[in-house]
Amino acid sequence: MINRISEQELQKQKEYAARVRAAVQTAAFERGGPYKFCVVTYGCQQNEADSERLAGMLFDMGYEKADSEEDADIILVNTCAVREHAEKRALSVTGQYKHLKEKNPRLMIGVCGCMVSQEHRLDDIKFRYPYVDFAFGTSYLWQLPSIIYDRMKKKKRLFLLDTEDDGNIAEDLPVLRQCSYRAWLSVMYGCNNFCTYCVVPHVRGRERSRYKEDIIKEAKELVADGVKDITLLGQNVNSYGRGLYDDYGFPELLRDINEIDGDFTIRFMTSHPKDATKKLIDTMACCEKIAPQLHLPLQAGSDRVLQRMNRHYTLDSYKELVSYAREKIPGITLTSDIMVGFPGETEEDFEQTLKALTDIKYDMVYSFIYSRRKNTPAAEYEDQIPEDVKGERFRRMLEVQSDIGLKINEGYIGKTVRVLCDGESKNDPDTLSGRTDGGKNICFTGKCPAGEYTQVKVTAARPFVLMGEEI
Ligand code: SF4
Repeated sequence: MINRISEQELQKQKEYAARVRAAVQTAAFERGGPYKFCVVTYGCQQNEADSERLAGMLFDMGYEKADSEEDADIILVNTCAVREHAEKRALSVTGQYKHLKEKNPRLMIGVCGCMVSQEHRLDDIKFRYPYVDFAFGTSYLWQLPSIIYDRMKKKKRLFLLDTEDDGNIAEDLPVLRQCSYRAWLSVMYGCNNFCTYCVVPHVRGRERSRYKEDIIKEAKELVADGVKDITLLGQNVNSYGRGLYDDYGFPELLRDINEIDGDFTIRFMTSHPKDATKKLIDTMACCEKIAPQLHLPLQAGSDRVLQRMNRHYTLDSYKELVSYAREKIPGITLTSDIMVGFPGETEEDFEQTLKALTDIKYDMVYSFIYSRRKNTPAAEYEDQIPEDVKGERFRRMLEVQSDIGLKINEGYIGKTVRVLCDGESKNDPDTLSGRTDGGKNICFTGKCPAGEYTQVKVTAARPFVLMGEEI
């Protein structure tokens, strides 16, 4: 049963927030300077969106945004569990905070997110990081005010393991967005697909959709605030509305958001190929605000491997959907997730993945090496692939895909594209960067302010980025 957090429970958290705010403001007055927060985020767009709520709640509790951890009075590490590497990075960074606590014993350190939604990692924090004040799993996010208040008042460290398998939905939490013109908008949470390599269903709970009225209200508020680019988020957006509405799903939600007045673009991720339909593609084709962009994780090109991954589609059914999308939305930007080194993956299976790349021709691929995840079925498979073989296949896959990406991007040379500018490029202060309607990265010379649309003529291309000049 999905737990929608009640008004009373949310009101109680607002009262805790008021008490924390009073304590923080008193302490700030005594010290003669504001108390500051820092939220460090690992992982996916959903974690980015969660961190904006954590920051919103901290700001609401009287903390100001710190420039860095060194400058903070409370640090929250919002973790990811999708790969071993992500966990190791979060643990190593948390390890580095030991000296900050020695310098400032009043510093509060919290760890949250998917990694500590796993009991063994929550115990790691509890026993191996004695200077960490609290840790809580993803379903406790909305209780941050009472967690901080209890830590302040009871002087006891807090460790909260997710118990609600189904997960919950908390509406109207304070939010502090990273960007004034691009925004994440979660439409559903959790996942019921249980791909054999994936830890997400174990740390994010069961699929649960927000009420369409709440989503449309939030979208209208974003557009009224001047947001130009809205990305709808969900582990599997195509199962939106399942178990909540009989005749209202993701295509219907897209149509309703498309009806909102304003000059803005709608994007969405992530689509599971088994639930992505021709109806979705038709909706994308007829709704002018929906970006010509589809992220459709294939994961592997071998049906045998897809079956062992519990993905519930075949390469042929996947390719049929891709052809339909390209027919209905010419020039659509197509991206995917590809994993190499899944247990039992033979050289022949891997060759099928390379062939799928050359046949489908993605604009870009997010590529991953299989990472053994505790409590997932694939972690127990005997036929694990040696690390060196995984590494070699990963290198070969990148080579094939970067050639494909370059050829596709070279096809844009001489064309003019609409770009939403993100300001100065991180790599070159003399150029600007932004994204095309199709979501492609582009660096260009020009004067366009961040957050504004402009027209750019493409003059050169690389596998992962276009280059151009503003016209
Ligand atoms: S669809 Fe599969 S890979 Fe994606 S979050 Fe769900 S279980 Fe993980």
